[in-house]
Amino acid sequence: MYKRFTAIFQKRNTGISPYIWMILCVLPFYFIFQESSTTAKIVIGILLTVLFFVIYRIAFILHNSWSIYLWTTLLIGISITSTSLFSYVYFAFFIAHLIGNIQRRIPFFILYFLHLISTSISINFSFVLNDGLFIKQLPFVIIIWISVIVLPLSIHNKKEKEQLEERLEDANKRISELGKIEERQRIARDLHDILGQKLSLIGLKSDLARKLISKDPKQAEEELNDVQQTARTALNEVRKLVSSMRGIRVKDEIILISKILDTAQIQFSGVKEFQLKNVSLLTENILSMCLKEAVTNVVKHSEATTCSISIEQNWKEIVMVIKDNGVFKHPDPNAQRGSGLVGMRERLEFVNGHMEMFTDDGTTLVIKVPNDVKQTEKED
Ligand code: ATP
Ligand code: MG
Repeated sequence: MYKRFTAIFQKRNTGISPYIWMILCVLPFYFIFQESSTTAKIVIGILLTVLFFVIYRIAFILHNSWSIYLWTTLLIGISITSTSLFSYVYFAFFIAHLIGNIQRRIPFFILYFLHLISTSISINFSFVLNDGLFIKQLPFVIIIWISVIVLPLSIHNKKEKEQLEERLEDANKRISELGKIEERQRIARDLHDILGQKLSLIGLKSDLARKLISKDPKQAEEELNDVQQTARTALNEVRKLVSSMRGIRVKDEIILISKILDTAQIQFSGVKEFQLKNVSLLTENILSMCLKEAVTNVVKHSEATTCSISIEQNWKEIVMVIKDNGVFKHPDPNAQRGSGLVGMRERLEFVNGHMEMFTDDGTTLVIKVPNDVKQTEKED
């Protein structure tokens, strides 16, 4: 019930405690009864407060349409009236919160300054009138005035940052989608070039052999030999094609992730020249996948400004270290768990590798995979 109540004022959790909203919603009634000498004034006060909350709700729903000018101006009007009639200045806080949620820049700045100027004037006016109740709550008035200046800007910046992050995620998804499409087209082209021509040759030659088999058996045999030869060549070429589709290499993955880091404006201290020897194709695919996931996490979660990657191979194993200078965010236990780190560990188990994570100074992932001699020889 209490959550539903505060949801009227908070579309998304913006960090302002719901308790403050509760107090601010009840407070107008206290002021109305304190400041009103007549029943008529009390009725006007209650009606104004109800009207304010109704318009506030509408304004929140329509905060990205052009009608926001109208709704916010009405709210500012009610706020000024309640400041002068009941010394109740706190509606200004609600309006500041609403303005912070306006995403388009022009309406945001116009309404921000309109609200700031009108609130400053109505506060000063109440001072000039030397309103007793107003003077008593001076510290709170100052807090409200400061929030009118700071709150919209901080909410607006936070929202812009969130939007940028969403766009970045979309861009990353698109990059990997485009990569897949390009790869599919390449495979289709190669299959067509290699198999198309050879299969039609086989078709033609076997047709000819069928016709020649009674007239000229020797020639027919030669044609059939050709058919066999062409089929063998086609098979070899398909094998080569399949082996070139073995998935992404670590070197190629590094080119991709350097682009991703660049888009996210995270400085990438690249990998020194490295040469992987005796590494099975499976291992190389798994290392590439781990690299991609680790860097995606850096971009998504770390808020780092630099990310370094090192890959080294000694006589025993390959050691890959991915380090960022951000802050490790412990996952929310109530939220749905991500599958990235678990997936990395599971895949590494396939190749007897393992992963360690250090989170005291940014996040450091150390991935170790033993060299595998036998498998590589077999594949070669
Ligand atoms: P998914 O990978 O399935 O899209 P996810 O990224 O949230 O979701 P994991 O990759 O398993 O899941 O990461 C688990 C959590 O660890 C993240 O939600 C995040 O809180 C934290 N985390 C992981 N890597 C970093 C990092 N480099 N910096 C800060 N926090 C991180
Ligand atoms: Mg992840």
